[in-house]
Amino acid sequence: MKFIEGTRVVTDGELQFNNITPYHVTRFYREQITKGGYYQQLRRIVEPSVEEFERAGSLDTSGEHANTVVPGLQHKYAQTGLLLVTNRCASYCRYCFRKRMVGQKSDEIAPDFGQVAQYIGRHPEMTNVLLSGGDPFVLSTANLNEILDHLLPIAHLDSIRFGTKMLAYEPKRFEDSALQSLFQRIRRAGKTAIVVTHFDHIGEISLNAERNIRSLRAQEVQLLNQSVLLAKVNDDPEILAATFTKCHQIGVRPYYLFQGRPVKGASHFQVPLRRGLEIVRGINQRLSGIHKTFKYIMSHYTGKIEILDLGDDGRVYMRYHQNKAPEEIGKIFSRPHLETACWLDDLPEG
Ligand code: SF4
Repeated sequence: MKFIEGTRVVTDGELQFNNITPYHVTRFYREQITKGGYYQQLRRIVEPSVEEFERAGSLDTSGEHANTVVPGLQHKYAQTGLLLVTNRCASYCRYCFRKRMVGQKSDEIAPDFGQVAQYIGRHPEMTNVLLSGGDPFVLSTANLNEILDHLLPIAHLDSIRFGTKMLAYEPKRFEDSALQSLFQRIRRAGKTAIVVTHFDHIGEISLNAERNIRSLRAQEVQLLNQSVLLAKVNDDPEILAATFTKCHQIGVRPYYLFQGRPVKGASHFQVPLRRGLEIVRGINQRLSGIHKTFKYIMSHYTGKIEILDLGDDGRVYMRYHQNKAPEEIGKIFSRPHLETACWLDDLPEG
């Protein structure tokens, strides 16, 4: 098997035992990153590394199993339901925090959307559902419409979100004319359609992606972007500032920059917290006020934690952006800093 470090002989058993994500990348993305001038950085997103055999880390860093309320539906934060609709993606990111299931056999995908809708119907506090996986746009538009058959009649849902990296991996998926009717259906049901793109690097934003984003905006789809801070890929304020500026130019609002999670076999992508904070400061120094729309977030099993600063007192300051317990939201807390720390659990209590 070809790794970034060179060819190695590995057995199927070793790949399975180590949860190595299958290698698959679209021709479009390969061409985009080859011709875009950032090949050495962007190949790390899709090409396997021998570092993936590292055994430290977890396959469920955000407590997804604990928050699953019916098969395929997670309900961690009051207003949001997270629905796993597929275990497939157009290409596989080597840092994926759902590598336990993407591209693998999985029983975590919602088998019964009727059951999902019944649960949501009993929870009026839930106002939006995020379709995720995997990438929902690997499903046919007919399949997506079947899922919407269950969700759109629920009056208290005000928006349907789609988390997708398809605009980077295969933007022409959005040229499917049937998708226009799907977004129109959502609109006519009185709900907002939101596509959350996943651009980690300006080199992933192709002309084709731009064209399709323009068309989505014309269909009144809202667009947000989330990125992951990745060592040797985008751990550079210049690159991330350029990425976020480009997102704004094309009408996509950056809203999360995720700290890399301690995922088993992907922790080599993690950037130390001190460096992450320096990068975030560097990004903000390069952006105008209206472009500073992102939050630097650690999606921890206790909640979404905004990483604020490293104080002169040697402590890392953080705030709960989301938490299962509403009284914790907005609370600032701090922990002593350690140079090697990349995650909340790396920081000692006290
Ligand atoms: S597209 Fe998303 S779900 Fe799919 S492999 Fe990449 S990070 Fe994971």
